Amino acid sequence: MTIRIVPKEQLESNYAQKTSVVGHTPLLFLPHIKSLYITRTSRLKQLGKDSPLADYIAFCTQISELQNELVKSMPVKPSTDLRDLIVNVQKQGCAPLSLTNFPLNTLWQSYLDYLIERLLGHNKQIDQAIVELKAKTMQEKQDLATHLLNGEFDQVPKTDSLFIWSALSCYYAQLAAQLPATAEADLGETRQFCPICHSHPTASIVHLGGQASFRYLHCSLCESEWYVPRVKCTNCEESSGVHYYSLDKELAAIKTECCDNCQSYLKIGYQDQDPELEIIADDLASLLLDEETEKAGFAKTGLNPFLLP
Ligand SMILES: [Zn+2]
Ligand SMILES: [Zn+2]
Repeated sequence: MTIRIVPKEQLESNYAQKTSVVGHTPLLFLPHIKSLYITRTSRLKQLGKDSPLADYIAFCTQISELQNELVKSMPVKPSTDLRDLIVNVQKQGCAPLSLTNFPLNTLWQSYLDYLIERLLGHNKQIDQAIVELKAKTMQEKQDLATHLLNGEFDQVPKTDSLFIWSALSCYYAQLAAQLPATAEADLGETRQFCPICHSHPTASIVHLGGQASFRYLHCSLCESEWYVPRVKCTNCEESSGVHYYSLDKELAAIKTECCDNCQSYLKIGYQDQDPELEIIADDLASLLLDEETEKAGFAKTGLNPFLLP
């Protein structure tokens, strides 16, 4: 099954025929931009309290707070008609906010400037990275962003990646939130990339109050979530050989879903086990679980915005 993006009104007119696929459970959640960073900030504060990663989590908390300030003080007003982007992808079969369908302009760079200006003073190493990033030309920064969006992480210094991705994500999440889009299930097996922006997921999540059999992949860039069936590898689509690790109890709120077929894993978070679970924050704070899963020979397919490769 593949998730295909369609304009909102089109699905509504076809609703009767689409509901047979997965009942009334939505296939797609676009980000709620007003609460996104507030929820993340408060979860990061909570998780950072007794964590061996407390310093780094505190730094990420500061980024999340700044992202929230950005969406309030410098909201994105798209110059393109967002509906056109969706109509266009119906013909081309790509994601509406992918680079192919929606070329990157330089608006995100004002976000980057805002962020790095306020992140100065954390420590010498970060200050040095910020000074060097500030000295780059607009074109150089645009090239770095394009590398990241194309998944070419080795082309970008690690410290730059964090700041650039945080700015890009804040920009793309606002665009995604404004898309007059919904989704339908289509034939095919392509679901490991975000149907809105074509980035990698961070992890998958089973929502509180949702049907227990439904889980969603959470996008590491635009923060949209799309439906994927349970107990099936999100990387290679195999369902045999999928098993779970957790650090402590059987009913842990966060586990790794490991696949013997492709030797990959992705975290899965269960909000019924912890209603306050916020998937990006919880994925970051459970690094020990990554270490243990990697020791067992599995490689992560998810991408956390705060832990870019
Ligand atoms: Zn996305
Ligand atoms: Zn697999």
